[in-house]
Amino acid sequence: MSKLDELLGSTFNCRCGQCHTVTTQMIVYTEDAITRIPSVLQSCIKGQRIVLLADIRTWAIAGEEARKSLEKEGWSCHVLIIPDREHKSPVCNDITFHELSSQFPQADAALAIGCGVVGDLTKWLAFEHQIPFAVLATAATMNGFTSANVAPTIKGVKTLLVARPPLAVFAVPSIIIEAPFELTAAGLGDVIAKPVSTADWIMNHIFNEEHFCSTCSEMINSLETCYFDHPERIRDRNPEAMAALMNSLFYSGVAMTIIGTSAPASGGEHLLSHTLDMISGIDGQDHDLHGRQVGLGTIVASVLYEKLFEIETPQLKPLPEIDQTFWAQRIQSVRHQYEQKIPVIEAMRKKIREAGLWQEFLNRCRSLVRTPRQIKDCLKTAGAAHTYPDIGCSRDRVRTAILHMHEIRKRPTVVDLAWMLGILPGAVDEIIDRWLV
Ligand SMILES: [Zn+2]
Ligand SMILES: [Zn+2]
Repeated sequence: MSKLDELLGSTFNCRCGQCHTVTTQMIVYTEDAITRIPSVLQSCIKGQRIVLLADIRTWAIAGEEARKSLEKEGWSCHVLIIPDREHKSPVCNDITFHELSSQFPQADAALAIGCGVVGDLTKWLAFEHQIPFAVLATAATMNGFTSANVAPTIKGVKTLLVARPPLAVFAVPSIIIEAPFELTAAGLGDVIAKPVSTADWIMNHIFNEEHFCSTCSEMINSLETCYFDHPERIRDRNPEAMAALMNSLFYSGVAMTIIGTSAPASGGEHLLSHTLDMISGIDGQDHDLHGRQVGLGTIVASVLYEKLFEIETPQLKPLPEIDQTFWAQRIQSVRHQYEQKIPVIEAMRKKIREAGLWQEFLNRCRSLVRTPRQIKDCLKTAGAAHTYPDIGCSRDRVRTAILHMHEIRKRPTVVDLAWMLGILPGAVDEIIDRWLV
């Protein structure tokens, strides 16, 4: 860990040619993390008025202890409990945001106690009120802790806002280890995406001139073996494997913040999860946790890669027309993304035909991408979701999501490549019946 630690709070000239700044000053993953909150914050924040945000569950886990620890060192704490929605956990949307924003006091800093929605809302509120914030994570559920991104639903549409990353992140190993296992398994699903999302990044670098940084793409490589090679340690909540998972989540967020996009940790595999969320927004059915859906998306993306690795001379078709009927009232936001992608795809088709580039792409990605068997076995052994019933989907629902996932974002991914190469839509039934059951 020491080398990764050195990156925190630093500005450095990278071998990729850019100068990078890591805003997050400190990541504390120790049993005494909560007692260290006041001194760490004192070193990077002016003033001692702090807003603590939590939901009722995360407050019960760590809130009171965090408040006591801060008050003991002279901090004045204002607690905001994020309300549940219709007997369910809170959601990160414009309604919750405005409700909390109107109660938000004058303060010098904010502390999110929780993860996911609590972290996102705190990040958004701190940005709106122009104060720094920190996170006390209560589960290893996703990689958003250290990123600048917020993913709220605004007027019913899933949106991406860029705020600021936290100054510090704290987590107590025994709390992370004892968290509900489905949260940990979701965290695994989110980080297992990394080899395929990196391959998508290389694809965009070679064919679309997207900036690529090997420091960021390799940042968590040394941690990955700990759960990829021994997923049973995640199932058994082995402290060393849990630390590797937690640090992978922290540092994939750091990599996204350095690059300023989600490219280091999110590619075509994430589209399955975003699409399932959007379908839920249309028909009102529940969707599963982000990382659990991303785990399945990673199986799908690795099948697509396995198939395109067999193609030595690509014959490229244009992308299909957008499905207007399917998207119904969401068509405008989806079309806005898809139409921006069409010219990029055209330029990409020309690039792919340039001598040597396709081979370069295959060579760089073959050594990187894991087989669908490896991904599925890892998820299965760890006790994570790896079939469509696991994420509460019917066969038809997951099939629909796979066939529409390329439409929702402007950035090309392996899913677009699979359509251009004629792998999709033909392979969809095999993907489901062989890999998602
Ligand atoms: Zn993710
Ligand atoms: Zn770099």
